[in-house]
Amino acid sequence: MSNKKTPPNNLDILRHSTSHVMAAAVLQMFPEAKFAIGPSIENGFYYDFDLPRTLIPEDLEILEEKMRAIIKANYPFERAEISIAEALKDFKKLGQDYKLELIDELSKKGEEKVSVYKSGHFVDLCSGPHLDSTGEIPVDAIKLTKISGAYWRGDEKNKMLQRIYGVAFASKNDLKEYLHMLEEAEKRDHRKLGKELDLFCFSDLVGPGLPLFTPKGTTLIDTLKKEVESICRKYGFEKVSAPSLAKPELFEISGHAKKFGDELFHVTSGKKHEFVLKPVQCPHQTQIYASKTRSYRDLPIRYMESDKQYRAEKTGEVGGLSRVYAITVEDGHSFCRVDQVKDEIKNMVNIIKDLYGSIGLWDNHWVSLSVRDYAHPEKYIGETSDWDTCEKMLQEISDEMGLDAKKQEGEAALYGPKLDFMFKDAIGKEIQIPTVQVDFATPKRFGLEYINEKGEKIPPVMVHRAILGSYERFLVLLIEHFAGAFPLWLSPVQVAILPVSEKFEKYAKDVETQFIASGIRVELHNQSESLGKRIREAEKQKIPYMLVVGEKEEADNSVAVRSRGTKEQEVMEVEKFIEKIVVEIKEKK
Ligand SMILES: [Zn+2]
Ligand SMILES: [Zn+2]
Repeated sequence: MSNKKTPPNNLDILRHSTSHVMAAAVLQMFPEAKFAIGPSIENGFYYDFDLPRTLIPEDLEILEEKMRAIIKANYPFERAEISIAEALKDFKKLGQDYKLELIDELSKKGEEKVSVYKSGHFVDLCSGPHLDSTGEIPVDAIKLTKISGAYWRGDEKNKMLQRIYGVAFASKNDLKEYLHMLEEAEKRDHRKLGKELDLFCFSDLVGPGLPLFTPKGTTLIDTLKKEVESICRKYGFEKVSAPSLAKPELFEISGHAKKFGDELFHVTSGKKHEFVLKPVQCPHQTQIYASKTRSYRDLPIRYMESDKQYRAEKTGEVGGLSRVYAITVEDGHSFCRVDQVKDEIKNMVNIIKDLYGSIGLWDNHWVSLSVRDYAHPEKYIGETSDWDTCEKMLQEISDEMGLDAKKQEGEAALYGPKLDFMFKDAIGKEIQIPTVQVDFATPKRFGLEYINEKGEKIPPVMVHRAILGSYERFLVLLIEHFAGAFPLWLSPVQVAILPVSEKFEKYAKDVETQFIASGIRVELHNQSESLGKRIREAEKQKIPYMLVVGEKEEADNSVAVRSRGTKEQEVMEVEKFIEKIVVEIKEKK
């Protein structure tokens, strides 16, 4: 999302005021400390310092103690406006070089006065606002969390300062909840679970940012693909397939060469081939549309494709799926007439609703109506009148479908406005994935046409939609949302069969065969380890059903069923159990 400047709310004021208190504590500990800046951020604040020595984690506890004392002393935040000259004199006396640089800059901007805030013995150059006094900070709702390095002004040519991060909340309970959420997030980290559940891996030889999916990870992705495709088919989409390469010209015409710039991968061969790896799928699909003469009666034409696309983005966290060079994108387009656009978009919204409903995420979402940055029209392609029409239409759709979309300026795509769907996962993390975008420009750029009722050639409209975004990002959401305990229909392994001992391996294999024949994903856990150990392992793998088989089960053709998360076992006939879970899988329970 863009960083729009919003007025500070009460929590921002609390958090920023706490950063002053932290700076005051740092000053007590290091009288020679120099202060840079200390803004409020999401959940808390930071402050950058130039200190005589490197901080260690134990320092944070000492600083917290000092902060509590400052809060209890209840110093008022006293504001004073002083002239630039006075400010320069005061901060020079204090030896605060960074503040002097900031004052200098304010003066160059034409400011004649600056505001300073005093709380206790600490004076800071700051525009505010702050709380009335330090005593208003809930003393048991603050915590210093992290030390890191940060260049002055974020410029690596400057000196590296030390940054202390902290969090501050309105109440002790809010802090507790936040710390709990952090702990949960760590447990659910997709990098950790991806490894434990054996879903994907990386290889130094293949390269960073290039995930490799194991059989289990691939099963998960394929199951999702099937689900998306079957929903989309109901809405008239047909599958197409295009190569990963294209001539550079394709992306020059589409505008993506300019948009992605050095993020495009160029591929050359010893035989003088020159290609670009596709960064998006739309341009290829336009050429399938262009392969035939189209009549108004043929429209809408709807294509879908799940394929890899490539961008040389900066890779993020090592070993994760959040930012990678190659992503598998579930991309689809509808080529339609202007009078069909609205229904096409509604169809796509319904597809999103169906899929996210089946995963149980639909109830926790909001929609962004992402429009142009009106101050910078040069960032977009296409005609103003088309943009106006599209933005108005999306607003109508939001109203008619009860989406309650919130307008977000500057969030539109290169070629048109869009509806973006934001979901909250189980621990409250917000993720934007599906999107529906209207595009009048691309068909015109490629000279796409259809013949209307009057025999005239006119360009169709293109509606882009991504239901899952990329499978890689969607997997992050799924893993973290379910903490690896996927619903039965998505689980890479749905059933594990555990013979109590070697003696019952043959029977276990018979049972396995019956499951395979019923299309159930089954694994035989017959390693030489003890039954207890194998049960614990299957629990760690978060397999929905564990079936234990021994003498009694073999005698009456049954299995002892243990569902994920319970310790109870229920003995059931094999056939009955298969019937039961086939229904559960079908109904996506
Ligand atoms: Zn301040
Ligand atoms: Zn597209």
